[in-house]
Amino acid sequence: MTTRLDNRKVDELRKIKIELGVSKNAEGSCYLEWGKNIVIATVNGPKPVFPRHLADPQKAVVDYKYRMACFSVSERKSPVPGKRDKEISLVSGNALESAIMVEQFPNTLIDVNVLILSADAGTRVAALTAASLAAADAGLPMRGMISAVAAGRANEQLVLDLTKDEEDTADAVDMACAFLMPQKEIVLLQMDGFVKKEDCSKILENALIGAEKIYDIQKKALLEKYPLEGEIQL
Ligand code: ADP
Repeated sequence: MTTRLDNRKVDELRKIKIELGVSKNAEGSCYLEWGKNIVIATVNGPKPVFPRHLADPQKAVVDYKYRMACFSVSERKSPVPGKRDKEISLVSGNALESAIMVEQFPNTLIDVNVLILSADAGTRVAALTAASLAAADAGLPMRGMISAVAAGRANEQLVLDLTKDEEDTADAVDMACAFLMPQKEIVLLQMDGFVKKEDCSKILENALIGAEKIYDIQKKALLEKYPLEGEIQL
């Protein structure tokens, strides 16, 4: 087995640091450092929808905006949202919606904004992980957490949580996965690269193992800010 470019074990996540409630102007917020990724997520709502024809009488509409700051990558990123930002926003909004009890808030809007301050691959999964924590910090009723991570292949070995350097290797495969936890339901799955069927299943298994670790880190961050009294099991 060759060592990874940053000397991690194949199943080792980058270092993760989480802080909740960082924005006084948002109802819920989360600051997340994940390796060299830096993300801030805010959640506001449920609130009235304008224009009103965009409201859904069955549930709250989750408006998820993923954006990269122009200084988040080495070449200046245009602040105008491109196709990639819009696609990530759409699929991530759907994923996050599965965790929030949106049916309790018909005809309302839940605003989710995620800004990538520094990017080193895996930003969409870092964004969803942070947004889910911000939704919990906002006190929204939730079915569970969205725990998201990328798994794939780099330098001929299957690895968890690829960096940009690993994503740029010749045989790279990058599978972004998000799970509703603890139910372990897949709510987002996107993949770059080519793999054999067996490897595809193994990568997905690795992603679930990674998501379980992320879920533990999320619970720890929530318990630090909102300590529980008594013997309640999360
Ligand atoms: P993810 O960040 O979710 O892995 P991608 O696979 O699309 O999403 O991007 C991988 C990495 O490529 C990003 O994390 C970032 O480091 C870099 N990247 C993405 N978009 C740009 C861009 N417009 N300019 C420069 N680098 C970018």
